[in-house]
Amino acid sequence: MTDIKNTAGKKVLLASPRGYCAGVDRAVIAVEKALDHYGSPVYVRKQIVHNKHVVSSLEARGAIFVEEVDEVPPGSVLVFSAHGVSPAVVAAAAERGLNTIDATCPLVTKVHREVQRFAAEDYDILLIGHEGHEEVEGTAGEAPHAVQIIDKDDSIAAAKVRDPKKLIWLSQTTLSVDETMETVLKLREKHPTLQNPPSDDICYATQNRQVAIKKVGAQSDLVIVVGSANSSNTVRLVEVALDAGAKASHRVDFASEIKEEWFEGVETVGVSSGASVPEELVDEVLEYLANRGYGDVRTVQTAEEDIQFSLPAELRKELKAAGHETSNKAKRD
Ligand code: SF4
Repeated sequence: MTDIKNTAGKKVLLASPRGYCAGVDRAVIAVEKALDHYGSPVYVRKQIVHNKHVVSSLEARGAIFVEEVDEVPPGSVLVFSAHGVSPAVVAAAAERGLNTIDATCPLVTKVHREVQRFAAEDYDILLIGHEGHEEVEGTAGEAPHAVQIIDKDDSIAAAKVRDPKKLIWLSQTTLSVDETMETVLKLREKHPTLQNPPSDDICYATQNRQVAIKKVGAQSDLVIVVGSANSSNTVRLVEVALDAGAKASHRVDFASEIKEEWFEGVETVGVSSGASVPEELVDEVLEYLANRGYGDVRTVQTAEEDIQFSLPAELRKELKAAGHETSNKAKRD
């Protein structure tokens, strides 16, 4: 049992940046504003963002989460999640007569555009990402004939190339930067002409959170990352913390999931959160830690973020017509 009275040497290193990114904020605000404007129910295809708390809060306000378009009654409002959708899903929603709002993060859309462009130029596209992840399904769905998903080592060996001069790798936005570069090296050993993406596909938020957790992980006995199990960027933070030298690292959705036995001999606790995690969940973890003697909280800041995206155009237009929306940026009133 940890001695909760003895606070000597105990401290928390709080990673910054952490938590909500601009794409998640925009997607959540889009659903909130759609609920305000159209009333309940507003349907959302898949989890709007990969976080249990966010999804249940929106459900309580009248959002209904579905897996596929055919579960939505014709004529309803349907929001596409931040992870993006393939053209086939967009077409299915149009065929059903749904009023759609596309909350795909603009940085995911950027990768979709790259797929469209290189597929049009007849490239083979090696898309590094997790097989079955919604974002990867949506991105690959832009040009299934041109995209091969590179997940595990066997997919590296299996990659087929028609013309070595027309070969490029792209990636999911929320991968580990270091692991992705290892995969690129392995791919390039087999395919030396493999071209790099025109710009980074791993997004600014994923990269910034990994840089911060590296610094925190290197100085921590234990790292706690707040976020859900299906959140790719959250799971990567746990791995990056361990790689950076943390003796242990655990992911929790809520402070109530923290286990007492993790604190045996622990002086320094690192804390961070995934890009879909509201700050109130981190506050609850800090409160839990303070109650156990870890009340000395020091922020480890490695970058400043001030990115904001505009609300989805179709929603902006609706709100403007109704006289509700004055700002171009996604923010709460
Ligand atoms: S993690 Fe990156 S790609 Fe995903 S929603 Fe946030 S900013 Fe967009």
